[in-house]
Amino acid sequence: MSEVFDRLKAIVGPKGFTEDPAEIAPHLEEWRSKYKGSSPLLLKPASTQEVEAIAAVCNQTKTPLVPQGGNTGLVGGQIPFENEVLLTLSRMNRIRSLDARDASIVVDAGVILATAQAAAEEKGLMVALSLASEGTTTIGGLVSTNAGGVNVLRYGMMREQVLGLEVVLADGRKLDLLRTLRKDNTGYDLKQMFIGAEGTLGIVTAAAIKLFPKPAQRATAFAAVPDVPSAVALLARLQEETNGLLNAFELMSRNGLELVLDHIQGAKDPLSAPSPWYVLCEASGPVAIEAAFQKALEITLEQGIVSDVAVASSEAQREALWKLRESMSEAQKLEGPSLKHDVSVPISAAAAFIETAIAAVTNELPSARPVPFGHLGDGNLHFNFQMARGGDVAHYLARWDEIQQIVHDIVHDYGGSFSAEHGVGVMKREALRRYKSATEVDIMRTLKRTLDPKNILNPGKLVPD
Ligand SMILES: Cc1cc2nc3c(=O)[nH]c(=O)nc-3n(C[C@H](O)[C@H](O)[C@H](O)COP(=O)(O)OP(=O)(O)OC[C@H]3O[C@@H](n4cnc5c(N)ncnc54)[C@H](O)[C@@H]3O)c2cc1C
Repeated sequence: MSEVFDRLKAIVGPKGFTEDPAEIAPHLEEWRSKYKGSSPLLLKPASTQEVEAIAAVCNQTKTPLVPQGGNTGLVGGQIPFENEVLLTLSRMNRIRSLDARDASIVVDAGVILATAQAAAEEKGLMVALSLASEGTTTIGGLVSTNAGGVNVLRYGMMREQVLGLEVVLADGRKLDLLRTLRKDNTGYDLKQMFIGAEGTLGIVTAAAIKLFPKPAQRATAFAAVPDVPSAVALLARLQEETNGLLNAFELMSRNGLELVLDHIQGAKDPLSAPSPWYVLCEASGPVAIEAAFQKALEITLEQGIVSDVAVASSEAQREALWKLRESMSEAQKLEGPSLKHDVSVPISAAAAFIETAIAAVTNELPSARPVPFGHLGDGNLHFNFQMARGGDVAHYLARWDEIQQIVHDIVHDYGGSFSAEHGVGVMKREALRRYKSATEVDIMRTLKRTLDPKNILNPGKLVPD
């Protein structure tokens, strides 16, 4: 192995690797501390050519390679488990070009999302993707997980934002699909194979991303609703009145909001009386959007669909409302352990699913506190169960797999997905085998064997053995 490592180190030069355990350590544990791994070598190439050379050596010597971006993935996909070599593209962080006429930005895969957003904003444009981890996640990670976030309702997931990709294949060849064309109907759309592939089919080294005009106005509100069917009714009314210009529609429960108020400095309840459920909703577009948004809220207040509402009247108020939603994951982490699920169901089934699944889980774990929240406008719920205060952490977390299967079985019954936006990684490989058809799994394995016959790219992730 030491001879292989010497070859890899020679490719990247002294600045391009570390074997220092202290420097490698932060890359071995993910955000939730559910998965911890090990790696003897972290490679930090500075160019696509170096990535090509690394892959060629790894392929020739059957050395497993785990690509890692910002290490914010939530299914363990970026963690090396078998002493594999880690690869970070953090030194590949150049904005290659931004063309306002093409409404596109071309970036190295190591660029942080917030950096790409800021570059677009400087030109009066916008990267549509937005998520709580945007200060840390990289374009390579977002592409490889087909990330979602809070604007999917209007703009779609990462898959819909990507115009082109540059990918290094397992055998070291560069696949140059880095085009900024809106229309290119020339056979199989190969770039789509690598979006959501979690580093198992190739290493993404650059991406061309769509840009959108920065909206002239945003209208943001925090609405109290008595139940989930009312939230679904509010969604329909807001879409109707704003002519489909809603970009975010996020559900929170009262106990979720209370966790944020307890743990997050500066968080304030914007309404005077508690409500079992809340929706943070936002529309954006031309100046007239605010009036249409207000009208929908007034109608739903009159109809009793909404019981109270706080509308942001300044950017500071908008940020304060968003902070309540964006701090949900952090507040849950600070409160203690929780059993987490990232699922989707048809929006029409969301209320029934929440009721059925909460009953099924609390039947098994009576003290668990349900804290469902998330992108209701996409039918996507982060369906989490917080441990009761003072509970036995090890005992609680030991039930995660069992509870997950109960939830996923119900999701499946409602025609939903066991992974709405976080991917499969190691966490959901068994679920993939359980809920996907044998034909789907077979085609995935065939694709993996074709593009990575020696199984060097992120082995043990996504595709079941
Ligand atoms: C607080 C918080 C909030 C979040 N909110 C959301 C949300 O709203 N929506 C959402 O979808 N996700 C969310 N996530 C999850 C996470 O941010 C996304 O999955 C993100 O896309 C991961 O990007 P990353 O750069 O951190 O990649 P990593 O976590 O480092 O890697 C993720 C996967 O991509 C692979 N990979 C990384 N870089 C490359 C590359 N260059 N080439 C090939 N493969 C690569 C890795 O091997 C791994 O399988 C959240 C996470 C946190 C911590």
